[in-house]
Amino acid sequence: MAGNKFKFTDNLLKVYNYAFTEETTYGFYKPNEAMYVGVRMTEKQYNCPGCHKVFTVKIRNDNDGILYFSKGRIAQQKKVYEELDKDFPADWELMEKPYVYQLIGYCPDCAAEKLAASQDNGQRINNLCHELYLQDMLVYDKARQFTTDAVEKWLAGIQEPEELTRFDLTRPEIVQELIWIMVLSDTEACEKALQEYRDAVQPILYELNRLLEKATPAWKAYAPRSSSLPESMSDGEYHEYTLAFPADDTVGHDFYFPRMVEKSRVEMFVQQPRMESIQDLLSDAGFQEQWIDMVMDKANELTR
Ligand SMILES: [Zn+2]
Repeated sequence: MAGNKFKFTDNLLKVYNYAFTEETTYGFYKPNEAMYVGVRMTEKQYNCPGCHKVFTVKIRNDNDGILYFSKGRIAQQKKVYEELDKDFPADWELMEKPYVYQLIGYCPDCAAEKLAASQDNGQRINNLCHELYLQDMLVYDKARQFTTDAVEKWLAGIQEPEELTRFDLTRPEIVQELIWIMVLSDTEACEKALQEYRDAVQPILYELNRLLEKATPAWKAYAPRSSSLPESMSDGEYHEYTLAFPADDTVGHDFYFPRMVEKSRVEMFVQQPRMESIQDLLSDAGFQEQWIDMVMDKANELTR
């Protein structure tokens, strides 16, 4: 329960992003005119080359609605506009008129159909790593849910106020310890989730190691990127003036874009420590503040 303990899930999330989604490093400077172009960007459009559907994401209106694009990114956007048979705005319009950022990437449905069946070595590695990543996150989410269920079940079984009021409920550390003991005494659902996780992950890891053995040092293949993530409009370093944030109510979907993937990064992700014991899982899932409220609500209800 200590705050700065190693967390498997946080670590896996970071290393996965390092291998498959991170594109630029953070820098601390203000854009200068020689390198950047100001653009009044209001939305992004994801164009799927499979089903030709267009998915729109609104952009948050920071910095007076102006974002800075690197010149390379402007050139890249011109190409995408051309490919989509759209007219790219004139230079003066970029700052003045709402600009729509265009992307070409497979939607989740088309990716499931076209990319999942790929026999290409690099694509298969990307697919398996994504599956592995989803399993890593899933077992964590399950543990968060099941430990909350355990607290709920415990509280539902309490009939007499004394069962709670005999503890000093004004002291958070006492309440916390009490709840944690209850969580540790009801771990069956978490243990089952952990077993399912291990059963799912083992064949994926086996297959990945086999494919990585014959992989080249780098390859180009599709990797997913959620539409709810901020995206840099600069190809080199990024900073607050180049980051396009999706509007807060954006529901993220994974779109698939071709990108260069480095074997060494992928190996790093595959070889990261993963949860093995129920202690690992419970410590990762951790204590949830809402449990204290649940206990207090129950105590109030019983003493009313
Ligand atoms: Zn599609």
